[in-house]
Amino acid sequence: MGPDAMKTDQSQMKRPRYMGIPTFMRAPFVEDLSSIDIALIGVPFDGGVTNRPGARHGPREVRNQSSLMRSIHPETRRNPFDRRCIGDIGDVDFPMVFDLEASIDKIHEFYLPIVEAGVIPLTIGGDHAISYPILKALGASQPLGLVHIDSHTDTWDSFAGSKVMHGAPFRRAVEAGAIDPRRTIQIGIRGAQNATEGWDYSREHGMRVVFMDEVEGLGIDGVISEARRVVDDAPAYLSFDIDALDPVYAPGTGTPEAGGFTMREVIRLLRGLSGLKLSGGDLVEVSPPFDVGGLTALHGATLLYEMLCLMA
Ligand code: MN
Ligand code: MN
Repeated sequence: MGPDAMKTDQSQMKRPRYMGIPTFMRAPFVEDLSSIDIALIGVPFDGGVTNRPGARHGPREVRNQSSLMRSIHPETRRNPFDRRCIGDIGDVDFPMVFDLEASIDKIHEFYLPIVEAGVIPLTIGGDHAISYPILKALGASQPLGLVHIDSHTDTWDSFAGSKVMHGAPFRRAVEAGAIDPRRTIQIGIRGAQNATEGWDYSREHGMRVVFMDEVEGLGIDGVISEARRVVDDAPAYLSFDIDALDPVYAPGTGTPEAGGFTMREVIRLLRGLSGLKLSGGDLVEVSPPFDVGGLTALHGATLLYEMLCLMA
């Protein structure tokens, strides 16, 4: 596809933004993968959380708040919907929602034809456990680089007997050869832990771990330079856990950690990643039941738009 191909129908975007059935950013709902370059996908699953649940409601609420998004970027003046064919392809289905491992497999199966079709997936979770099966599909032929923005490294081995819960997706992705730990950067890590094992795993496997204290020293421009240096020119994935934001900006999430990013900082950080070869991305851990006035979902939708612009 690409810019010269037939555009997806944007007529809905000309209507008042509060009208109509909500899709992500009012993009057209499409079922035919051959008609799009970028797929917006909901993964309404939070069976991998270790604490507060609710991220299963993330896709629906981000769809709702994302109806506030407009199309032309204020800095680049580019409209992603003019540059690429973009559609909301709906949600991953979970017929076995009580079975965590089976659900993780279900996500993996869902992404295989997307990868096969050469469509870039931009996903809205769901808890962070969903990133592993997505990466397993996307990184099957060669390991991807990774920009991971989060207050947690999510490289723990297991919790309460599960190796695919939301604290382990990037360890599993390294083991599966889906990401290259030496081309991985984890940004915004903070908060006390009961064991250092996850932090240690990331460092021992060569990931660049930028703790929040270092973010302050480097500044956002310094963090951008580090991310570009680590990920370099080869294909990469972008994973954004909403708990990277300070809980003031994102109260609606499962494991909030004080002392996080402002929205201004992460918008600037994302814009600084422009030009990276992104094979896909996700925005996870928006938990509407813990949200205040839709704030977290609105911020999630705003970041989703910035991520879409990076991919378009
Ligand atoms: Mn996470
Ligand atoms: Mn987190």
